[in-house]
Formats: sequence, structure tokens, C-alpha cells
Amino acid sequence: MSDVHQLDFLEEKISQLKEQGVFRELPELNGPSGAVSVINGREVINLSSNNYLGFANHPRLKKAAIQAVEKYGAGAGAVRTIIGTMDIHNRMEKLLADFKREEAVIVFQSGLTCNSGTIPAVVDEGDLIISDELNHASIIDGCRLSKADVLRYRHSDMEDLERVLKENAHKYRNRLIITDGVFSMDGDIARLPEIVELAEKYECMTYIDDAHASGVLGESGRGTVDHFNLHGRVDFTIGTLSKAIGVMGGYVAGKKVLIDWLKHRGRPFLFSTAHPPAVVGAVIEAVKMLMESTEYTDKLWDNARYFKQKLQGLGFNTGKSETPITPVIIGEEAKAMQFSDRLFQGGVFAQGIAFPTVPRGTARVRTIVTAAHTREQLDRAVDIFKEAGQEMHIL
Ligand SMILES: *Cc1c(COP(=O)(O)O)cnc(C)c1O
Repeated sequence: MSDVHQLDFLEEKISQLKEQGVFRELPELNGPSGAVSVINGREVINLSSNNYLGFANHPRLKKAAIQAVEKYGAGAGAVRTIIGTMDIHNRMEKLLADFKREEAVIVFQSGLTCNSGTIPAVVDEGDLIISDELNHASIIDGCRLSKADVLRYRHSDMEDLERVLKENAHKYRNRLIITDGVFSMDGDIARLPEIVELAEKYECMTYIDDAHASGVLGESGRGTVDHFNLHGRVDFTIGTLSKAIGVMGGYVAGKKVLIDWLKHRGRPFLFSTAHPPAVVGAVIEAVKMLMESTEYTDKLWDNARYFKQKLQGLGFNTGKSETPITPVIIGEEAKAMQFSDRLFQGGVFAQGIAFPTVPRGTARVRTIVTAAHTREQLDRAVDIFKEAGQEMHIL
């Protein structure tokens, strides 16, 4: 007789992962996330963080976090809607709304909870969601939690999007087109001007998840809506505070009526505790830094262009990347993983990514340079890529 409490069913699943060679031990950071980090005890050039602007360990953010702890304590004490809203939470939201040039902002615990909380709050039974096939997992979760029907269109394929709209839009009460602003595995940018035009033609609302564009694209990192100058034409913009902003959290920016509604129906906002003061203090400081100057985003883009050009010059396949996310596409799954290991031995951390995260046969290592990397570090990384690429007959 089997004992269900032995969790044999999970043992079996874990064995399968091991057989498929996809069981992973997590790499461990032994110190802060930075341009150079100590990972698994070894000092390497870190090309796998989302710490685009180097804010995660920035002295100004650290200081602001410590000051907030001293003034407000370690925890918020309650969910936002009971008595967890401190004056700094409100100040953070007001500042973000100014930054985004939108009427209002609501902050959730993460980008993930923005999607899982907002989508079901704004579309319901009788409504339709039209979603890019490569949208982030948290958008897929948000769609599943809503009672709306969901149809997908081929990645960034505007003809396919229009086909879906033409065949289906008229059958539903409200229609919502959802897309990532920047796609995380290829680093390509959504075709937002065309999406907005189609949305206007077929009377759809638009929802952009700008996680990888927040602090990256647009003036001082205001996002894809700003990048394409589409202010006022996108209904829901999601940003994250966990990537370029360097801390943790997510926000929804839009009309005041939307934000008021989410304060009543955004479930993570209602049922999960407010951000601790340290997080809020650091986020406020980060947004202020972006509003003061374009220094950080300028440096990020200089570095990104430089590094991408060098990799392309060597003959690596960087796919359709248009942003600081630069994949180096290897193809075969095992080879991509070996390449990543070889880079690590050489002194570069660049995570290998394979099926099911990316389609079979397009396995890759994914790089993200940051504003914090120096030219010397990038040159050194390029040399290590070259050595490893030649040794493994990728070049
Ligand atoms: C990273 C990411 C998220 C999640 O953001 P967190 O703040 O880390 O929860 C959501 N959507 C997209 C597109 C992302 O890339």
C-alpha cells in the first residue's frame, strides 16, 4: 500500500525532470546584484539580472530604504484597504502618476500581481481578451482568472491580430487587446502604434505590460507608451518596480476611475499586505532619480548598443533584439547550456534558456547589460564570448 504522505507523486515528477535534464539547482548570489557579482562563490560579470539601471544596490536607494525603516518601521502592518496605507504609499503612487504622465497609479506587490489582479477586475463574462501568443506567464494567469473568453494572435503579427478582431470582436460586449511592451526572451518591442490603431478601428481597449520597458524605454524610462508617443491612447499600462527600478512591486497607470475601481476589486491589493516601508522609500528615491535626469537610461542604452554591436560583429545570432535584452541564439538545448557553463568558467554569468521557455531549436543564452557595466567589463565579456564561441564551434 502506498503512503500518500510520502509524496511519491512528486518524487516521480522530479525524477522525470532529472531524466529530461531540466532539473536545476538555483545559482546563488553571495552579495549584492551588480555589474560584477559573486555567484556560487565566484566573481563574474553578471549579464543575467534585470537590474537595468544598477539601482538594486545603489547608495541612494539603500539610504532611502534605511531612512524609511527608521521612520516607519519594518512592516506596513495591514493590507492597503484596512490600515496598511501609509503616507509614503500615497506619495509613491502620486509620484509614479506624475512620472508616467497619467491621471493615477495604483501599486501592487509585484508586476505579477498587477496582472493577476487587474485583468479579472476589468473584463468579465461576455467580454473578449485578445492576447499575443508570447505574452508573459502572469498575463496568462490573469486571463485564466477572468471569466472572459481568450483568443491569441501570432506573435507581433498585425495581420493575424486583425483577422482575430474581424472574426470575433462584434460578438462581445467589451474587448481588450493585451501585449507585453518588450518581450523578455527576444528583446523585441511590441508594435504598439499599429496595435493602438487596430484597437481604435475595432473599438477595443488596450493593455500594455511594460515590465521590461519600465525604466528602459521612453524618456527616462517612462515606457513604451512614451517611446511611441501614444499618451492618452492606451487604457491600461502595467509597470514593474522589480526590474529597472531595482526594488520590488508593480503598478497600474491609467484613468482615475480605473484606479478607484482597482482599489475596490484588485484582489492582491485587498487581500495581501502592503509593501514594507523600506521598499516604498527606495522606490520613491529611484523614481526621483529618473525624473532628475536621463543619465541612467542614456548609459544603459549606450552600453546595450555597444555590447550588441560587438556580439553581432563576432557573428553571433542575436535574433530580433531591439532593447538591452540581447539573446545569443545557439539552437540545440544541450549546447546552449554548455555554452552558458563555459562562459561561467571564463568569468561571465549568462543564463541558458531552453524549451519550454523558448521554442525548441532556439535555445540560447540571454544577456542583459546594465547602466552599471563599464566598457572594460563589456570588452572582457565580449572576449569571453569569443573564446567560448570559437572553442565550441559556434562561431
Ligand atoms: C518580470 C515580468 C513580470 C513580473 O514582474 P514582477 O514585478 O517581477 O512580479 C510581469 N510581466 C512581465 C512581462 C515581466 O517580464
